[in-house]
Amino acid sequence: MKAAILTVGTEILFGEITNTNTVYLSRRLNDIGIDVMYHYTVGDNPQRLAEMIETSLRDCDIVITTGGLGPTQDDMTKEIACQVMGDHLVMHDDILEFIKNRMLSYKAVMTENNVKQALLPSRCRVFYNDAGTAPGFALARPWNGSESDTAEADRMQWIACLPGPPKEMTRMFERSAMPWLEELTEGCLFYKEIRTFGIGESDLETKLLPVINGQTDPTIATYAKDGECSVRVASKRKTREEAETAVCEMIKRVEEYVGEFIYSTEGEDYPSVVGNKLMSSNLTISAAESCTGGLFGAALTDIPGISSVFDRSLVTYSNQAKVDELGVRLETLEKYGAVSEQTALEMAEGVRQKAGTDIGISVTGIAGPDGGTDEKPVGLVYIGLSLGEKCGGRCLCRKIDRRLKDRQRNRRHAVLSMFDMIYRNI
Ligand code: ATP
Repeated sequence: MKAAILTVGTEILFGEITNTNTVYLSRRLNDIGIDVMYHYTVGDNPQRLAEMIETSLRDCDIVITTGGLGPTQDDMTKEIACQVMGDHLVMHDDILEFIKNRMLSYKAVMTENNVKQALLPSRCRVFYNDAGTAPGFALARPWNGSESDTAEADRMQWIACLPGPPKEMTRMFERSAMPWLEELTEGCLFYKEIRTFGIGESDLETKLLPVINGQTDPTIATYAKDGECSVRVASKRKTREEAETAVCEMIKRVEEYVGEFIYSTEGEDYPSVVGNKLMSSNLTISAAESCTGGLFGAALTDIPGISSVFDRSLVTYSNQAKVDELGVRLETLEKYGAVSEQTALEMAEGVRQKAGTDIGISVTGIAGPDGGTDEKPVGLVYIGLSLGEKCGGRCLCRKIDRRLKDRQRNRRHAVLSMFDMIYRNI
């Protein structure tokens, strides 16, 4: 099956919002073996919207739209979808009831506009909205694409219309559109996300070529995001069990090739993986942060229950703070500088001693965009790790030299490296 994604909204064209819906839908459709051929965006204009739906269906089996389903004047996706697909809007009493109850639960007054939301195409499949009021739907018409002469007599084309707000859209997609697509494509989908750190996407893909090449099910796709890469392994089979077995077997093969970079095969992020590992092993931790300014501590405190092992993260930005709070020696700072292996090690040891934890971790670096020298370029980061008796009693340091001028990316990468350093050494 071939699909197009059509996002509706003038604010997308103005660059006022980032089109995350397209990214999300593309991934999910690829997961279930539907080829996404086109991404289109159109403003809130009825004629252009109608044209874009027709264009999308020229050679695709399905077009998925997001946006324009709300109750206001400029929301016109329903009407135009009906027009193109040869249907008309009728009142759906069950939807009206659903919206009334939803408004009651919001303690909001039901307006004429809300009633209009229960108007949907007469022969559509309705998608309920668990996160808002605007329902979505799927609607079919006989194939009217470019190969109409050669198309089988019963071949159909579909439009599926989902709301614009990402929370509503993703909920509706997962709960209603996905089962519908599985019926349409006759199969059950199962997928897992493998998370890696310390390897770039092209390198990861190259290493995985022997398993990716010629592979149609499970599908294996690599993605880069926020300083790390993930591998999505997806399978569509007759039953969920068959799909799950195929995915798990493929994950074992992926592990053979890139196992040293994997930190989760369950899609969890690094803070959660490390936090849970610390909690299950009852290992306490403290941190001393310089260039990350508390980002490491913030990431750890996102994890429920982490107070059982996380003691503190001290932001020691100035040299004086490193001396006062962590006992870093002035001679060390003068001789090697604040961004050095020696300082990182003293910071880690200092915070561990002060907090009395099993693990002390530190970070010091030049986040940029300015402030680097030939000897100490922007992007240079040192991470110190001090492990108490319970973890083998040793101190280690990792040097990262990425020569990247982007302050935020350097800081994010430093935080992930801290989690990586802990994960690989406890
Ligand atoms: P509503 O009932 O909220 O009006 P709607 O289905 O009519 O829902 P829109 O009005 O088109 O949707 O968009 C509502 C909001 O959803 C936008 O202001 C924007 O914040 C978000 N949104 C819309 N389209 C996208 C998109 N493609 N990617 C990310 N966010 C989007």
